Amino acid sequence: MNFISKSGLSFEEPLIFERSVAGREGYSLKDFTTHGANPEDIFGDDFVRDEITNFPEVSEPDVVRHFTRLSQWNYGVDSGFYPLGSCTMKYNPKINEEVARLDGFTSIHPYFPESIVQGALELIYNLQNLLKNITGLKGVSLQPAAGAHGELAGIKIIKKYHQSRSDSKRKYILIPDTAHGTNPASCTLAGFETKNISSGPDGYVTAESIAAIMDETVAGIMLTNPNTLGVYEQEICKIIKIVHEKGGLVYADGANMNAFLGKVRPADFGVDVMHINLHKTFSTPHGGGGPGSGPVLVSEQLIPFLPVPIVAKDDSGQFFLNYDLPSTIGRMKSFYGNFLVAVRAYTYIREMGNKGLAQATEDAVLSANYIRASLKEYFHLPYDTDSLHEVVFTNKKQSEYGVKTLDIAKRLIDYGIHPPTIYFPLIVHEAIMIEPTETESKADLDNFINVMIAISEEAKNSPELLHEAPKISFRRRMDEVKAAKNPKLRWYPEETKK
Ligand SMILES: *Cc1c(COP(=O)(O)O)cnc(C)c1O
Repeated sequence: MNFISKSGLSFEEPLIFERSVAGREGYSLKDFTTHGANPEDIFGDDFVRDEITNFPEVSEPDVVRHFTRLSQWNYGVDSGFYPLGSCTMKYNPKINEEVARLDGFTSIHPYFPESIVQGALELIYNLQNLLKNITGLKGVSLQPAAGAHGELAGIKIIKKYHQSRSDSKRKYILIPDTAHGTNPASCTLAGFETKNISSGPDGYVTAESIAAIMDETVAGIMLTNPNTLGVYEQEICKIIKIVHEKGGLVYADGANMNAFLGKVRPADFGVDVMHINLHKTFSTPHGGGGPGSGPVLVSEQLIPFLPVPIVAKDDSGQFFLNYDLPSTIGRMKSFYGNFLVAVRAYTYIREMGNKGLAQATEDAVLSANYIRASLKEYFHLPYDTDSLHEVVFTNKKQSEYGVKTLDIAKRLIDYGIHPPTIYFPLIVHEAIMIEPTETESKADLDNFINVMIAISEEAKNSPELLHEAPKISFRRRMDEVKAAKNPKLRWYPEETKK
């Protein structure tokens, strides 16, 4: 059977999944002998086997079709709209991929002497400087391999800073209820306890609530700005002053820089430590565990604590790996981080320029607000406060017809659109969190808006359509609990034969 979704993707349901046929082969090494060489002579006896057990026996077209079919069942930002809130699934310029594949970048080895990898070191050095300019912070290390990894590095820096001053009473980090789930996890891993701060009625943390809890047992605060509601922390300057006055440090989760690039620099409102998700804000195909990069940035007084190595330049203009930071928290990763993600980010920033980055932010914020204004009549907005790059709705209006947020999300798949983030942030019951990014044209935004309006009508008139969705995708609705608790991640041919 052949399904064509509205996005134009075709989902071919194979009648047979098992393609292996005894004796079928893709190519053979038999001809080696006619050229006067035995495989054994070339590879050595140990590497040549007559038979491999349980290996699929398939022809070349079988293999090509198998993998091509699998790739078509997938959905990515290159297939269509992908408004995953908090994850910034934006267009990744193809030039980034070209550059990241240049031989000079892919064929170098981490153990090469510094003298022959000057170009790669220069790129890291230049990227370090660009990130410092963008954030206003004075020091950076590109070691961490993801956002959460950057958080862990940053919180360890805060810990070591207090230790270096023999200030041992500070065992808490303050975290608002709008934080990303990785924030409390990073604090716990670094040996802190967390104190949960309730955000105020308008969706941001109030200075009053921080003043009430901040004391000498608190090491610092971890703030996401804009927070996961897409709301700018309006009292951030007052909050930072209160934390600093009591000797604490301020960590900013900068995964969502798409909301203020080129508009405001975190250092200017007093941030001491932050990480950036290069793979979100500065493009790199991600999701599904793909490679990331979460550089950690710090104010001047925290530079001695950065993870090593960082790339520096000596008096003669040679680039080198600097391991000589007196109070370093050590290494966070082997070698220098995910280098090719850094190459993509560097390409992206150079290609966009300061103006381009600011424009991307403006477009991302405009797109989110366009969706917000166009849909607020149809979907309930839990917070009235203006939002930036993402907007959070709920299913409250649809719930009277028995429709859950999950149903709305699954129905979007039938219209060829990837669902947004749902059930996050946790403080919003049945949240639908939409981040369109700057990628989409007005026509594509309008299409999404019209689809959402159509779904809100369906919720009223034929809610069963939503309960049963998705109907035209390759896989129907999963039992998500079972999939999480009892995942089957490998194909065992014997099981199908039974
Ligand atoms: C994505 C995200 C993170 C975690 O980043 P990873 O690279 O997935 O580890 C942390 N905080 C916020 C606000 C995020 O959106």
